[in-house]
Amino acid sequence: MRTALITGIAGQDGSYLADFLLGKGYNVVGMVRRSSTVTFERIRHIQDEINIVQGDLHDQSSLVEIIEEFRPDEVYNLAAQSFIPLSWKQPVFTGEVTAMGVTRLLEAIRLVNPATRFFQASSSEMFGKVRAVPQNESTPFYPRSPYGVAKAYAHWVTINYRESYSLFAVSGILFNHESPRRGLDFVTRKITNGGARIKLGLADELRLGNLESQRDWGFAGDYVEAMWLMLQSDQPEDFVIGTGRTHSVRQFCEAAFSTLGLDYQDYVVQDERFYRPVETELLLSDPSKAKEILGWEPKVSFEKLIRMMVESDLSLVSKEVT
Ligand code: NAP
Repeated sequence: MRTALITGIAGQDGSYLADFLLGKGYNVVGMVRRSSTVTFERIRHIQDEINIVQGDLHDQSSLVEIIEEFRPDEVYNLAAQSFIPLSWKQPVFTGEVTAMGVTRLLEAIRLVNPATRFFQASSSEMFGKVRAVPQNESTPFYPRSPYGVAKAYAHWVTINYRESYSLFAVSGILFNHESPRRGLDFVTRKITNGGARIKLGLADELRLGNLESQRDWGFAGDYVEAMWLMLQSDQPEDFVIGTGRTHSVRQFCEAAFSTLGLDYQDYVVQDERFYRPVETELLLSDPSKAKEILGWEPKVSFEKLIRMMVESDLSLVSKEVT
């Protein structure tokens, strides 16, 4: 039985990856940081099937001990300070976790068991002020947030450990991916949850930032399969993972509200307080390398993703009403 360690298992992607790996017969170990309140909603349904261990990307010895104890065949680093607006408010913390945390984990692997295969969750935010459209594996980076800068460091240190120490360490340059398990502060979930609250009479408006921002949005469940495929390859290589389609926040609102039988224009207010200090430009993936080499393609369309999220939020919010 193969063992996989997932950092950030209680997050959106961690929970989908755990579901996926359990389905493949893996022994799944999930690292969580200690909290005074337990936040395991996303993994409650599989809590008895996985090993949950405490560790923190800030803390080198906790990482070494976890790798020593479980000797995972594969490590998926999904932990990060992942909320981009917060990275302007807490840039040093973001760098410590999202950038330096990756070096700490790679060091633990190098020192304890260099045969471990390592996946790093990189981000399309590294392209930021885009140098080309669409973006592929050779498009230069120009990150536009402390988060994007931290992810660019993490991406390069992953490549550097691969080249310096011959580790099987790879980076997936992930474009935005969403789901009913997306955090409530992210724009897609703000829209589907906010729309459901309006529909059920719990709110009468939804305030958002720039409605013209465009993103390449896919379904998180599809993206975790790409992570796994990358670690099953013969050669360690980096891949862009995305849908190759882009939509604006306005289009997302339009589709989500119309699924609810509402017109978004009656409820959505554009509020400059939610604008980023600097915006990314047209983020659009070219995932052709992933298709060609991994045989990976997204299965869930933009429209289906929105329907899935709206239906889940409607059922969640309706429990508050009854
Ligand atoms: P998420 O829901 O925010 O999950 C991140 C997880 O990391 C959380 O469980 C969090 O724990 C954990 N974490 C944060 N700081 C930690 C620390 N110091 N030590 C240990 N764990 C820590 O993010 P996600 O959407 O699943 O994304 C997974 C990864 O993919 C992240 O690295 C993200 O940056 C990257 N990514 C995501 C997207 C996307 O669109 N979703 C796109 C590109 C890249 P708590 O639960 O305790 O907060």
